[in-house]
Amino acid sequence: MLQADHLNILLDCGSGVLTLLQNYIDLERLDAVVLSHYHWDHIADIGCLQYASRVLMDLGKREKPLVIYGHTEDEHFERLTYLSYSEAHGFDTAGELKLGDLQFTFSRNVHPDPCFSMRIEKNEKALVYIADTEWTDDLVNIAQGADLLLCESSLYDEFIGKIPGHLTAGEAGAIAAAADVKHLVLNHLPHFGNHNMLLAQARKKFNGPVELATTGKFWEL
Ligand SMILES: [Zn+2]
Ligand SMILES: [Zn+2]
Repeated sequence: MLQADHLNILLDCGSGVLTLLQNYIDLERLDAVVLSHYHWDHIADIGCLQYASRVLMDLGKREKPLVIYGHTEDEHFERLTYLSYSEAHGFDTAGELKLGDLQFTFSRNVHPDPCFSMRIEKNEKALVYIADTEWTDDLVNIAQGADLLLCESSLYDEFIGKIPGHLTAGEAGAIAAAADVKHLVLNHLPHFGNHNMLLAQARKKFNGPVELATTGKFWEL
């Protein structure tokens, strides 16, 4: 969840998000969701969130439908609209999206289905979220000089090339180094193995601070 300019914005909404989110805000305070793509691990809780919006609007606790932004390149986009309770908004993958004072730009990933990384800027600060992708030099461009880079790190280095469309921890470190970012956080972690290995593999490529994403961690820019 990104909090800025009095807005609460989710970047992707995988399984477990709806439950965890309620530890931090009441659901009626969620303003928008911005989705990188429509694989289940990024949208599994969207349907439940739409029902939550329905309940809150029917009870009068929420006035406006939940706005869900996504790309328009496959049919799943249409399902982001749910009656009058959530609204699908397509983002221009080559343009800008403004939410309050936040400016979003996007970069096309290399993934089995269309997927986009995003750069979010405000007052000369930049947060970059690299979602599912194989290596492409475009990642270095979108991450350039970021204050905080959240980068997918699905694979230990020894699995490079074994699962198409994903980065290793070493590649995440290499992107952070080439883009000269200030802080790297590895997310989209494998559900097996020793995550400390990911840290070690990223640190071989990047000298700056590296952390693993964990539930409840906060970063302030
Ligand atoms: Zn994916
Ligand atoms: Zn994924």
